[in-house]
Amino acid sequence: MKKAETKDDIMNRLSSASLKKEDIVPILKMGTKEEMRILQSLAMQIKQERVGRIVYFRGLVEFSNLCRKNCFYCGLRKENKGVNRFRLSEEEILQAAAFAHEKRYGSLVLQSGENQSEEHIDFICRVVEEIKSKYDLGITLSCGEQSEDTYRRFLASGAHRYLLRIETSSPELYGKWHPGDGKHSFETRLNCLKSLKKIGFQVGSGSMVGVPYQTLEDIAGDILFLRDMEVDMMGIGPFVEHSGTPFYRSEAYSIPREERLKVTLTMIAVLRILLKDVNIASTTAMQALDKFGREKGLLFGANVIMPNLTPATRRKDYLLYEHKPDLDEDALLCDNSLEARIASVGETIGYGQWGDPLHFFRRINHSSSPS
Ligand code: SAH
Ligand code: SF4
Repeated sequence: MKKAETKDDIMNRLSSASLKKEDIVPILKMGTKEEMRILQSLAMQIKQERVGRIVYFRGLVEFSNLCRKNCFYCGLRKENKGVNRFRLSEEEILQAAAFAHEKRYGSLVLQSGENQSEEHIDFICRVVEEIKSKYDLGITLSCGEQSEDTYRRFLASGAHRYLLRIETSSPELYGKWHPGDGKHSFETRLNCLKSLKKIGFQVGSGSMVGVPYQTLEDIAGDILFLRDMEVDMMGIGPFVEHSGTPFYRSEAYSIPREERLKVTLTMIAVLRILLKDVNIASTTAMQALDKFGREKGLLFGANVIMPNLTPATRRKDYLLYEHKPDLDEDALLCDNSLEARIASVGETIGYGQWGDPLHFFRRINHSSSPS
């Protein structure tokens, strides 16, 4: 029988200067209640010391599902003809911003499928400028791969954070998760992340857990990738199937659905222990697998939640995966129950604060200091 991991085992493994995938895999394999409790207490201790037990809200506006890509896992892929394609009007997005302002959420995330048309980019810049002229909200964009010039325009319009998950740090696996049609390249994605960092965005990245063909070794690689890329924010989520995609009922699952939440929580805890002052989101996909998935994420080291502010009538058209929670609730209802649930796990909500990742300021001060 496998020997259980102790607190010292975990800390010794993770603090090794030459940390390797093989050191992380045994932690990802942990499963007993006692082991999970130890990991959780280590992560929470570091969270408390480095970022405090404060949860920052980012109101999520899924403003368009038009996408030029065909990722094998995603319900919004271009070839999924069962999707009603839409883009919210400027006014609808501004209403969501007004709601976020009124509720004292510090920030907004504007997310869409990948659309590189000039018209769409102009639209995004205009909307961001408009929101910034009216409200003191931090703005995060998550609109896929764009040219460096476009990213500069986004920054100039007033957005200051960008989320672009690498999805997987393994180029080989990336090739299995995406069509080889020239539009889906690991290298391009990586270069986008580098551009975003270079031009001054606070950068978020992350990966999925449990996509077909993926092993725990690959996930250990994702953790090392996020550490080495020095990203400021992390979004890790379990893969959840969508019937309109090639990865629905795949034969190639190596992490079964019932284990994906546990592995995601373990990954969050390891990232908190290793990277300390980054922001880590407790993602909606976690809630799709477990009603209290997001609250559990907070208790394993996450400190950001993205309540959904997409107009209720449009949510059913923005299904990256099926069984997305809160589809029928309006933002207000959803927000009230969320607030109570967050308080119930002992966290405070950072109302009215942007909640920028401390890691970002450490990173830029470090890079601008004389060597
Ligand atoms: N188009 C942009 C942003 C929207 S997709 C982009 O791709 O970057 C946002 C995230 O949803 C993706 O990065 C991916 O990690 C996640 N996602 C897509 N399909 C999913 C699924 N079936 N299960 C869980 N997460 C999924
Ligand atoms: Fe498009 Fe993003 Fe979905 Fe890929 S993950 S199909 S880029 S929305």
